Amino acid sequence: MRTFNQAETKIVSHAVEIAEDVTANYFKISTAQWKNVRYDIRLLDELSADEITESAFAQITRYSRNPDHTVQASRHYDFFKICLQDHNMTAAVERDEPLHLFPLTVYVVTHELVHVVRFSKFLQRFDADAKERQREEARVHGITQNALGILNLPNLAYVLRAYKNYQFMEELSTVRV
Ligand SMILES: [Zn+2]
Repeated sequence: MRTFNQAETKIVSHAVEIAEDVTANYFKISTAQWKNVRYDIRLLDELSADEITESAFAQITRYSRNPDHTVQASRHYDFFKICLQDHNMTAAVERDEPLHLFPLTVYVVTHELVHVVRFSKFLQRFDADAKERQREEARVHGITQNALGILNLPNLAYVLRAYKNYQFMEELSTVRV
């Protein structure tokens, strides 16, 4: 499966920094508070087989601690792993000429971080049913468009137009720990 090459990996990590800034700003989360948003972003070569999908740009795996196992002092918490699907992102860029990897990654990672922040703040349940999931997807698209609409990044406008109503940017899965 096609993974990001060295140059692309550099582009992706720069895009991730922008997406983190944009998301933190949108939700007015300070740098100190941002450290409490428990997530990690991984590329294809670091993913296990069940974190790889053919049908989306990303998969969010939630690592959920079983509340029964928590000792008194520790709180129930979730950790989110945003698994970027290099093969699907590069295929989209190769297929669609005006689409560039940098703005696409900014878009995808911002979208995934908006989900993660909303799950973390319990604004949205991770295991919502299909109907609710669809409504949440529309909300997250709206937030992502608003948060990124004010940026002046090259070729971002194309991504914002192309993915305005795109369904299912990611797969969701849960691992109990
Ligand atoms: Zn989504």
